[in-house]
Amino acid sequence: METFTYTKATGVQQAIQAAGQSQTRFIAGGTTLLDLMKLNVERPSQLVDINRLPLDQVEKLPDGRLRIGATVRNSDLAHHPSVESDYSVLSQALLSGASAQLRNMATTGGNLLQRTRCMYFRNDAMACNKRTPGSGCSAIEGDNRTLAILGASKDCIATNPSDMNVALTALEATIHIQGAKGEREVPIGDFFLVPGNTPQRENVLEPGELITFVTLPAPKAGSKQIYLKLRDRASYEFALSSAAIVAVVSNGKLEFVRVALGGLGTKPWRSLEAERALHGKTRDGRVFRQAAEAALHGAQPQSENGFKVQLAKRCITHALTLATA
Ligand SMILES: Cc1cc2nc3c(=O)[nH]c(=O)nc-3n(C[C@H](O)[C@H](O)[C@H](O)COP(=O)(O)OP(=O)(O)OC[C@H]3O[C@@H](n4cnc5c(N)ncnc54)[C@H](O)[C@@H]3O)c2cc1C
Ligand code: SF4
Repeated sequence: METFTYTKATGVQQAIQAAGQSQTRFIAGGTTLLDLMKLNVERPSQLVDINRLPLDQVEKLPDGRLRIGATVRNSDLAHHPSVESDYSVLSQALLSGASAQLRNMATTGGNLLQRTRCMYFRNDAMACNKRTPGSGCSAIEGDNRTLAILGASKDCIATNPSDMNVALTALEATIHIQGAKGEREVPIGDFFLVPGNTPQRENVLEPGELITFVTLPAPKAGSKQIYLKLRDRASYEFALSSAAIVAVVSNGKLEFVRVALGGLGTKPWRSLEAERALHGKTRDGRVFRQAAEAALHGAQPQSENGFKVQLAKRCITHALTLATA
């Protein structure tokens, strides 16, 4: 680990000003960042601690939206009464991730920005375009069983590992950002980037920009929500395939549906193809299987993860069955 300075910020403006120096990282729960610093993958010269910022509340806004502060802990968010009742897909996704101790530390902003678990990214002796642009991708000809089948490029096939991000994608969250140039809001669908030939760039944040809040649209009346996560063991494990479904069924037909996938894509993956195949259709297994086929139509398996195509189809079909039961 390299030497760094440490600053505790007490206000948003102070945090942003402090982050004006190059090679600064904000530190929230530290459950991703400190690991990566110890592995020499992240080498900030300055840490700005944002744990004292007034961003630790979950609030209902007058227009019905829910505003989640960037430093709200994952466990607090999962058990918040409004999240449990109106956005249960988010609660389920958070509680399926990591362990109770990690969720007590991990924050909304940190979870959004957690880095890939690709083993070559975390090993600084191996070539990795995401860690060292232009060095090559060890995973393409290497151990890629857990990596992406959607949105990959010839330069990077790493998955976005977050469960929370998949639920936020199905809920069509908005990310609120503040930086030296002011404030902006980005829909989650535009926030994450596919790797292309710049896999080191994972999202639209500019250096020194702080995530302040995430907002969720007013709850969809009568919606049923499911987060289904399939993984190698029942807890403390990342998804091989997951599905977040938000659905409203009226007179047996799917009046509204959102489908987002995890463990499969280089970013949290919203499947507009599946949504189109479901919209207005009768709730039944054949329709669900057609939607799953549509979602995986463009999948490009790697040498070791062809099994994910079938796994993902079953995951989507089962999640839709549960959500609309
Ligand atoms: C053993 C283990 C198992 C895990 N299993 C799962 C799992 O099954 N599912 C899952 O989804 N996750 C899992 N995780 C990941 C965990 O959810 C993340 O580590 C956690 O959410 C990160 O949050 P944090 O607050 O600790 O982030 P930090 O480590 O503090 O920060 C992470 C990154 O975000 C940046 N950052 C943080 N807050 C902000 C902000 N407000 N604005 C701008 N930048 C910011 C930091 O600079 C850093 O780059 C696991 C982690 C571990 C260690
Ligand atoms: S898949 Fe991406 S993160 Fe993994 S080694 Fe290749 S470039 Fe690096």
